[in-house]
Amino acid sequence: MKFLVINSGSSSIKYQVIEMETEAVLAAGLVERIGENSGLLKNTFCPGTSNEREYRVEQAIPDHQSGMLLVIELLTDRDKGIIRDASEIGAIGHRVVHGGEDFRGSMRITPEVIEALEKNIPLAPLHNPANLDGIRVAMKIFPSVPQVAVFDTAFHQTMPPHAFLYAIPYELYEKNRVRRYGFHGTSHRFVAGECARLLSKPLTACNLITVHLGNGCSMTAINNGISVDTSLGMTPVEGLVMGTRSGDVDPALHLFLKHNKGMDLETIDALLNKESGLKGLCGMNDMRDIHKAIAQGNERAALALAVQTYRNRKYIGAYMAVLGRVDAIVFTAGIGENDSIVRAESLKGLEYFGVCLDLEKNSAHSREARCISGENSKVRIYVIPTNEELAIAREAAAVVSA
Ligand code: AMP
Repeated sequence: MKFLVINSGSSSIKYQVIEMETEAVLAAGLVERIGENSGLLKNTFCPGTSNEREYRVEQAIPDHQSGMLLVIELLTDRDKGIIRDASEIGAIGHRVVHGGEDFRGSMRITPEVIEALEKNIPLAPLHNPANLDGIRVAMKIFPSVPQVAVFDTAFHQTMPPHAFLYAIPYELYEKNRVRRYGFHGTSHRFVAGECARLLSKPLTACNLITVHLGNGCSMTAINNGISVDTSLGMTPVEGLVMGTRSGDVDPALHLFLKHNKGMDLETIDALLNKESGLKGLCGMNDMRDIHKAIAQGNERAALALAVQTYRNRKYIGAYMAVLGRVDAIVFTAGIGENDSIVRAESLKGLEYFGVCLDLEKNSAHSREARCISGENSKVRIYVIPTNEELAIAREAAAVVSA
């Protein structure tokens, strides 16, 4: 059985075809610059194997439907492709950013589900319409294939009200659903499951802090397998310092910027989402560039690293207090998996709380899930590669077989 996983953005479609028996990736690709003069499809068949083949198609891709059709054409190509026709696809899993309070788990897509997604557009005006575009196109191209929506927010729907409410007039929650939702749920749940396996414990018996540090960053406190708090809020801006997103700021900043810089709300929103975080502090948002700049004596780059890792440490401390007992801290995503300096700085000074890093294990390079804590560390520390596409495919499989 082969499953297709689709992550549809406003001008892009990321996809994978996964063979579910072996969980091998048969094809992975990205359609970019949809709606622009020149679009691009980059596809790799059998990535990471001796049979790896890459293909690029450059042409105008006016909309999501033509982008998806281009992908299907390549996947089913008689010479190059990996499937005979669309009937070989057993199910399609769609990443959906915001499920609001309507979805506590993944859902088979029905007209009612689409209606609920439309209702949630005000909560994610940039992401949900793009996700819906992908869903509508896939339903048109594959009318008889089951389609499943997997939500970034669903894992965090277990948060209790004292963790998800903002201390603002309660009517704003009652009438407008203003609250914290959290994101990256698919990734947090995936690495939590992998960590439970490594700890040889059922997930329902695990207390974990999962730290997703990529372009977007978030941290989750997991109590007996369920999310009880997470750092991203109503939108994916709250919490940790990210590549271009600020994380926590004083909400009165908006008024200050309006009065003192003449900015309107849209400009401030763009500033906090696209011009802040590491980029705002030092002009670079890729951690690899930041390390190179630090090595050349760039003090602002060092400051950006310090601000990010200090915020990480502060949240880890807060979540240790939330959980009481912590079995493991798990680092994942681009920075979390690859950057031993960020990991070490984020855990600095936590030895008193039973968090002891093994510096040698921490700096060893590997693509595998691994334990990097010292023998005597009360809290285990892991690096576990996230795999959101596989997680979405597994979710889709569970929904389809239920
Ligand atoms: P993600 O959003 O998970 O794809 O992570 C992307 C980010 O991970 C990039 O912007 C980099 O900042 C960071 N990253 C990727 N590889 C490395 C590496 N080897 N060392 C440090 N940071 C990395």
